[in-house]
Amino acid sequence: MLTDVTASESYFRRIELGAVRAAEWLQDLVFPPSCSHCGRVDFRFCPACLYELEHVPIAVSQLRVESLDALCATGGHRGLLQSAVQAFKYDGARELAMPLAGRLVKALRILKLPIDAIVPVPLFADRLAERGYNQSELLCQQMVLKTGIPARPNVLKRIRETSQQALLSEEERRKNVRDAFAASADANGLSVLIVDDVATSGSTLRECAKALRKQGAGHIYGIAVSHSLSSDWFPQEEDDEYQHSWRWDQNI
Ligand SMILES: [Zn+2]
Repeated sequence: MLTDVTASESYFRRIELGAVRAAEWLQDLVFPPSCSHCGRVDFRFCPACLYELEHVPIAVSQLRVESLDALCATGGHRGLLQSAVQAFKYDGARELAMPLAGRLVKALRILKLPIDAIVPVPLFADRLAERGYNQSELLCQQMVLKTGIPARPNVLKRIRETSQQALLSEEERRKNVRDAFAASADANGLSVLIVDDVATSGSTLRECAKALRKQGAGHIYGIAVSHSLSSDWFPQEEDDEYQHSWRWDQNI
């Protein structure tokens, strides 16, 4: 884990994780998993789809939105990439952290963002216990290994529980995460990259950025493996509040 925890917290966390893994093992025994993309039984994401995932082109998009210097993604939330993100986030396919983080690192190399630290979108404690892992944190761990850029998970925390964004409408998403995050004074002067798995409305990354901005962070960028944003995503009446434009979209 990236987070600093005390010895007793670490002990209970290990018990918690052990219980989650045991429950997953039992569930797999009774109801064998199937690949989230092709349905092949006994895999959450099968080797054939994993191979294909490596060949999904990286289409780096960079969008200017409120609070963030840029919101970036490595491709649209559709097809194989969507299946991979869903298996990683909801089906316990932790092994996808490496290939998905690989996409983020390639995007970073293209974008050449001046960042001092990588920050995962934090999960509320109850959600973390329920899922057993924070998918953004797993991505950050892999990014640290691949880039050497340090992770600073402790500069940002989720201060209240929120509903799952995927189940909400556009407006509900905004309200759901409003003021849900707080940053520490350590963010002062840092240029950071906030990492998430998917940017559906961008609301979560923007709220994280707002919290970091309040504490004096320098440049603040957000990056997600996939996005389902479009230029018509912004409500018409709020158009002037946002500078939004697809600056470029490049396939490599
Ligand atoms: Zn498959």
